[in-house]
Order: sequence, then structure tokens, then C-alpha cells
Amino acid sequence: MHDRVQVAVIGGGISGLNLARRLSAAGVSFELFEARDRLGGRVLTVNGEGAPSDDGYDLGPSWFWPRLQPALAELVEELGLASFGQSSDGDVIFERMSREPAQSYSAVRQTPESMRLSGGSAALVRALAADLPGERVHLNTSVTGLALREDGVRVDCRDGAGAERSIDAEYVAAALPPRILEATIAFSPEPEPGTAALWHGTPTWMAGQAKFFALYETPFWFAAGLSGTAQSMVGPMLEMHDATTDSGGAALFGFLGMSPAERQAVGEQALTEACIAQFERIFGLEAGRPVSTLFKDWAADSLTATTDDLVSSGHPAPAPSWVHGPWADRLILAGSEVSPHEAGYLAGAIEASDLATAEVHRRLGQRGPYT
Ligand SMILES: Cc1cc2nc3c(=O)[nH]c(=O)nc-3n(C[C@H](O)[C@H](O)[C@H](O)COP(=O)(O)OP(=O)(O)OC[C@H]3O[C@@H](n4cnc5c(N)ncnc54)[C@H](O)[C@@H]3O)c2cc1C
Repeated sequence: MHDRVQVAVIGGGISGLNLARRLSAAGVSFELFEARDRLGGRVLTVNGEGAPSDDGYDLGPSWFWPRLQPALAELVEELGLASFGQSSDGDVIFERMSREPAQSYSAVRQTPESMRLSGGSAALVRALAADLPGERVHLNTSVTGLALREDGVRVDCRDGAGAERSIDAEYVAAALPPRILEATIAFSPEPEPGTAALWHGTPTWMAGQAKFFALYETPFWFAAGLSGTAQSMVGPMLEMHDATTDSGGAALFGFLGMSPAERQAVGEQALTEACIAQFERIFGLEAGRPVSTLFKDWAADSLTATTDDLVSSGHPAPAPSWVHGPWADRLILAGSEVSPHEAGYLAGAIEASDLATAEVHRRLGQRGPYT
């Protein structure tokens, strides 16, 4: 690890990786710190056993919308990633009340079409990280403190073994949700109160959500003329979709409709049983016999959700400026939540980190490719 760099990047999700890739290509020196033992952040693709995988099920984001999100679409193309449409051929099922059978309706084709990456969303993580110099990317390393100096910032880190280390950076790019930044990193001096309140008040998109997956031998719902999409007013899942992989791994998934507190009170085992029973009610007897199941409660993940995300959610609102006061000259926010047009989305992670790249070049007095 270098003791002094031009940019310290906090976070190895899509924003931090895109930023690091851009900086690396432009010859700007950086170190990237990621608290988890894997890259990707909210992007998490796993196999049937729940282990991170190159071909699996998206416990985090699944979809992007190329027609509405041209910058992300261009990046997907530049990286040579293949994509395919979310299954929408076949009927949609609506479960209105527990005492009456679910009804099926012919589907109206969704426009614009939701697209998925072949292999899962982690394909984007892998492609962004592919050319990064490995020695500049530090997994299991949390940034714990930032201290303002005359000529930059002292960045304090702690690795997985508890060892502490500091480096000096001219600028810090915080590629993580503003709420996590405010809640987990000690600032010296403190950010001015309006800035701290803005970070604290910005919800982290989808942080309070949970996804349940049931994996099967075959996607039997297609043969029954169903798309795999269902809506329910009964629960525990309110919205369900096909999650079959491009390589044929059959699966259905749903978003849990209960609050994080209710989920915690019920517990994973009982939730799993209730979700399987719901899939059986909606998709028939075969759906009650999955090969395996997967569950991810993002609200219980402290590197994504704070206690505020358990009660307040929704899309982050755009702000004219994310850092005022003493930190304005040295700290640049770069996570999806600060994106002006696509806040909270994967496309927002690309927009926010492209804007942050341009800002780094401007401050370094360089004409970078994104200025
Ligand atoms: C269930 C779910 C479904 C979603 N579905 C979609 C979808 O279909 N389409 C879509 O466009 N978007 C979707 N999203 C949103 C999408 O996942 C995010 O917009 C995107 O992944 C954000 O990327 P990011 O890099 O800005 O933030 P993150 O992915 O949150 O990355 C921040 C990183 O910072 C790290 N970190 C935190 N604190 C520290 C620290 N102190 N030191 C070092 N590292 C730290 C974290 O571990 C994390 O890796 C979904 C999200 C979830 C949870």
C-alpha cells in the first residue's frame, strides 16, 4: 500500500469500482478500501449454496433498463457483457385474498423491458475490477476515520485482523451510501451540521428490503403458460418474478412485504416456510418442493443499512451539493445515492462515479476523459 496517493476510494461497489477503473486508466494514483471480503457491495450473485458465483442468482440488483439508462447500457457494451430480458411471456398471477384462489391474467408486455446480465449482476463487478492493479484494492479493510490536513486527508483504516493503518490522500472519494458514511466514519473536524444532516437523511435505496429465492429442477411454470410474475396482497411476498439464469438454473424469487422488524421477529426459518407455501399456492404443488432456497435480508447487513433504513426508505432526493463546510475541498461523494438522475440504481452508481471522476480531474488540474 502506498503511503500517499492522489485519491483514496472508500467502497468497492459498482461506484467505487467504476471510479477506480477510470482513475487507473487516466494514471491517477489511488488506493481502494472495501470493508467486505468481496467486491460488489449491494451487487451479490450467488450459487444454490449461497456462495458468490459467476453464474447464479441475484440477491441484490437484477435489472437495468438500457433505453432509459444509456450510460450504463454503453458501459455494458464496452465491457462486452451479454444481457437478456426478464421473462414476461406467459400469464401473470394475482393473489388478492387468502380465502380465494389466485387468479391468472394474460400479461401486458412490459416497456421498457427489464434486462438482466448473463451470469448475474456480478458480471459487471468482475468486468469493472478486471484491469485494476490488485495491490491497490484492499478487501476486508474498513475506513474508520478521516482527518483533514493542510495538504489533504489522513485516512485511517482497519483490516479484518484488527490491524490499523493510515495513508495520506490528496482527495477522498466516498463511494458508499451517505448514511453509511455518516454513521460509520469518524471525521476530524466533524462535517458541518447541514452536511451531516443531509447524509443522515438520505435513504439508501433498497437497504430495508429482503429477497427470497426458491430453486427448482426445471422452470415448470413456463410449461404451464406462466411468466413467473405474480403479485400478492396476502404475503409474505408482495411481488414475485422468474429468476431462471441464462444458463438454465430454474428459480423464482420474491420481495418480502413485511417490515424489517417483522422479519426479524418471525425469523428466517418461519419466513422460508411461509414463502414456500406462498409459491405453492400461486404456482402449484411443484413449487412447494424446491431443491434449495436462498434468503438475503439487506436490512440486517450493517454495511448497507443503518437503523434509519429500517424505518425510512425510498428514493434519495437530488441535492445541489453533498459536501459543505471544512470538507468541501477534499471530500467527493461518489455513491449511487448522490446521482442526479438515477439515484439509488446501478445506473446511478455509474453516473455518480463518472461525475466524481470528472471532479477529481478538475481538482487535480487535469483534463480527464470525463471532464
Ligand atoms: C435487494 C436489492 C435490489 C436492487 N435492485 C436493483 C435493480 O434491480 N436495479 C438497479 O438498478 N438497482 C437495484 N438495486 C440498487 C443497486 O444495488 C445500487 O444502486 C448499487 O449497487 C449501488 O452501488 P454503490 O457502489 O453506489 O453502493 P454499494 O453497493 O452499497 O457499495 C458501497 C460499498 O462500500 C463498502 N463500505 C461501507 N462502509 C465502508 C467503510 N467504512 N470502509 C470501506 N468500505 C465500506 C460496502 O461494503 C460496499 O461494498 C437494488 C439493491 C438491493 C439491495
